[in-house]
Amino acid sequence: MKYAFDLDDTLSDTATVINEYAVKFDKEFLNGDGKMKVIDDSVDYYYFAEALNWNKDNIREFFKQYYLEIIEKVKVKPLVAETIDKLKKKNNKIYIITARRKREENEIENITKKWLDKNKIYYDELYINAKEKFRLVNELGIDYFIDDSYKNCIEVLEKTKAQVFMIETEFNKQIKDNKIKIIKNINRILKEI
Ligand SMILES: [Mg+2]
Repeated sequence: MKYAFDLDDTLSDTATVINEYAVKFDKEFLNGDGKMKVIDDSVDYYYFAEALNWNKDNIREFFKQYYLEIIEKVKVKPLVAETIDKLKKKNNKIYIITARRKREENEIENITKKWLDKNKIYYDELYINAKEKFRLVNELGIDYFIDDSYKNCIEVLEKTKAQVFMIETEFNKQIKDNKIKIIKNINRILKEI
């Protein structure tokens, strides 16, 4: 079977680090007060921008300034390496599909690969810059898709044959949708399949 995992906030706890840097950026560069509104039903990745009332330019500037530092600093979530190793031992294929954007000189790809190695996360193939994940899911013939983004999950559910699991996070936990299977920890997939 083929498993496709999202990276940020699925394999790693990225939100915590992004929020930390977003508050800093809000105060230092936007003269804001760094206070985040509570958002617990965000359907996409830009919850922090929503929480700080940023516009698109603010987001762009923030990522330009801090993105590389953030993705180097994120911590792996519990049981990730173990769970993927168990799947691999049963001859499953592991794909990591992330929307992390391509920048010059493959720097995102290099940092991401280094981070995966450091955290002993096995994978067969890594795809970055995946904007519409359902397309890759179809192309690769993925059987199981695991992501924290409700938008990605619902698209994959509707447009592919893959079975979908949404990882619960601080920012999507209020979303109720009976169509989507929500799991708290990644090792749950071993029990669900
Ligand atoms: Mg994610």
